[in-house]
Amino acid sequence: MWLPNWNGRGQAVAPTLTPPINSESALGYSLPALALPYQVYIVKVRARIGQPGITIPPGVLYFDHQYAPTLGALAAHEFFHTVHWTYPQSCMTSIPGTIFQLPEHWFRDENEDLRWWMEATAQWAQHEAVGADQDYAVPVAVYLQKPWQHIYYRPVSGDPERFSYSVLFPFYLIEHSGAGNGGRDIIRATWQQYQTTGNCGPMLPVLDAVLGNQTPLGSVRQTFPAYTEANYFLSYQQQADFRQVSGGAPNADVRPNPELRTLDNNSLAVSGPAPTFGGTQVERLAASYIDLRNGFNPAQSVGRRLDITVDIYRNPLLPAPTTGTVKIWTINTWTPPTATYTTIQPILQDMGLSGLNRHYRATVSIPNFDTTDHVTIVFTNTENSLLSPNFSYSASISPQTPTVTATPP
Ligand SMILES: [Zn+2]
Repeated sequence: MWLPNWNGRGQAVAPTLTPPINSESALGYSLPALALPYQVYIVKVRARIGQPGITIPPGVLYFDHQYAPTLGALAAHEFFHTVHWTYPQSCMTSIPGTIFQLPEHWFRDENEDLRWWMEATAQWAQHEAVGADQDYAVPVAVYLQKPWQHIYYRPVSGDPERFSYSVLFPFYLIEHSGAGNGGRDIIRATWQQYQTTGNCGPMLPVLDAVLGNQTPLGSVRQTFPAYTEANYFLSYQQQADFRQVSGGAPNADVRPNPELRTLDNNSLAVSGPAPTFGGTQVERLAASYIDLRNGFNPAQSVGRRLDITVDIYRNPLLPAPTTGTVKIWTINTWTPPTATYTTIQPILQDMGLSGLNRHYRATVSIPNFDTTDHVTIVFTNTENSLLSPNFSYSASISPQTPTVTATPP
């Protein structure tokens, strides 16, 4: 590889490409033709596109001339995009005014999932290549701020949430797929499958096909409730990184942004979500979390019971809700990174048609609310459909007044 020496910047970039070349080679990816002249340009990228690097098919890398101190991480991320481009592309279209081409679906909204998967897996590859890098975890916090937004939400150029795509899903699949190389092979399988299926359409059906070959994953919609749970407890091997980068300490309390309610003597019944809570609209492949905090005096435990009702209204054309669409966690201790909790997976009762929607209801009684730190309701929309459901909850304490035992005179 030859790099121009622009004030020494070429020499700085060249060695940063060695770790990703080695790591992706070891993981069995088809790499760009390394024997050919490898095109790396150090130019004013940031001034043009607002980011320090970009990679264009068939594998041309551009780095900004004023690169960040995390150049190694950036190089690993961009190099993985050159690997993406080696999986043969069809449906290419010319970029006006250049000799380059991009997949024609690249900027179309209906295939934003393709771009999400490229970015999420490039963040993962960055972590694989540069073990000391923590930049890869930056998108975690932004994603968890809006867990109700569809997982493959694709920020557009200039969007302040440009990095809000979920980087967590590839990590989840690796830890739970049972694929080779410690689960890592599932990522390569998705790109191979994308190639096999013609390389022109959306990514989610490809993920469905690959996950469908993996016990116990099944499909994206079947996997999603467990993924939703992993995100709340941040049950990931790299959780110390995620907590550090998102919350400033390896044991920071980092969780998907919930609606926070407190039950205490002044508030014995609550319902919601409040219209101001972003999670009232749960988009496709997304979730909404409600935290019900125990605000009673722990010294005055009187055997309080918490009764919860969750109502869901969905388009009747959708298939029946997946198991785990609603979960309740009774969380007795919450001391990140550990929590002691039990999961309740209520049966969703089909209440029949309600107007144009089908109404489902879950009811749960928690007899020992006094012993909990908080109880969380999570509603997961497992459908990849624009037909967003409505959901609401109510929760109340019984007995509402403590029983007072009269002292005989
Ligand atoms: Zn990227």
